[in-house]
Amino acid sequence: MSNQPKVNLSEKFKFGTQLGKGSFATVVVATEVATGTAYAMKVIDKARCRGQEEHIVKEITILKKIRHPNIVQLFDVFETRDKLYLQMEYVTGGELFDRIVNRGNYTELDARTLIKSILEAVTYLHRQNIVHRDLKPENLLMAGPNDSPPPPTPRASDDIDQVKLADFGLATMAETDFMLKTSCGTLTYVAPEILRQEKYGKPVDMWSIGVITYILLCGYPPFWAEDDTGVLELTLRGKFKFFSPDWDSITPTAKDFISRLIVVDPSKRMTCEDAIAHPWIAAAEEAPKRVL
Ligand code: ADP
Ligand code: MG
Repeated sequence: MSNQPKVNLSEKFKFGTQLGKGSFATVVVATEVATGTAYAMKVIDKARCRGQEEHIVKEITILKKIRHPNIVQLFDVFETRDKLYLQMEYVTGGELFDRIVNRGNYTELDARTLIKSILEAVTYLHRQNIVHRDLKPENLLMAGPNDSPPPPTPRASDDIDQVKLADFGLATMAETDFMLKTSCGTLTYVAPEILRQEKYGKPVDMWSIGVITYILLCGYPPFWAEDDTGVLELTLRGKFKFFSPDWDSITPTAKDFISRLIVVDPSKRMTCEDAIAHPWIAAAEEAPKRVL
C-alpha cells in the first residue's frame, strides 16, 4: 500500500480497552507512547477485503483529507501483512444509541440541535460526493466533556454534547459487512432503494436522517414489525404514522421535516441542502447569549 517507513506499532502505541467490534474490524484505545495521547484504532482484517486493496487505499486517501468538527478524524493509516490500522480521533462520550436507550427520547430542541450538526457533517461529505450510507445512532458518537474546547456560546441544553459521525467511506470494503448487517436486525435505517437493490446514492443518507429524527422524538422506529421481513415490507411501502399520544405535543414543522425525508422515491426526498433550509432546522432558535 505504501512506501512509508516501517513503524513498530506496538512500540509506538500502547493498546488498551476494546471500544467496539464489527464483522471486519475491531476498535481499540491506543495511547501514543511519545505523547500520551489516546486515539481510537480501528483494526481491519485484510482477509475480509482481499482483492479490493486498491479501492481501499483510494478511499482512505479521501478520508484522510476530511476535516470537520462533526466527523471523527482519521489521522494516520498503518499496514501489516494481515491488518490495516486506522488511527482515529478518540471520542469519549459513547454512542448516541445508548443515550436514546437511557433517555427514552429527546426534547424537540435537543433533537433539532443534534440533527443540525449531523446535517452539517453530511452536507460536507455529500459536497465531496461521499455517501455515508450507514447512518444510525451506533455510528454517531458523542464528544465527551474533554474532547473539545467549550463552545463559545451557551448550549441549548447541558445534556447535548457535540455529535461526531464515525464509520463511513469504506464503502467497497463494507459491502459484505453491510449486507450482513442488514440481514441481522439493523434494517431500521436502510432506504427502500437499497432493499430493492437499485442503484443508490446520497438520498440514502437522507432517509436514515429521517428515521433517526423520528426515533429521537419518540423513542421507537417508524417501521416496526416482529421480524426483518415485516420491517422490510413496511420500509418498501414507506408508510408510517405519528402515533397519538406520543406525537401530540410535537410541532407540525418537525413532522413535516420527517415526512419530507422518509419518502420512498429518492428523487422526491429532501437533499441535505433542502433539509438545512427546512424551517425546523433553519428557524431553530439560537440559545440565548448572556448580554452582560
Ligand atoms: P464497524 O464497521 O465495525 O461498525 P465502527 O467504526 O462503527 O466499526 O466502530 C465500532 C464501534 O466502536 C462504534 O460503534 C463505537 O462504539 C466504537 N468506536 C468507533 N470509532 C470510535 C472512535 N473514534 N472513538 C470512540 N469509539 C469509537
Ligand atoms: Mg459501525
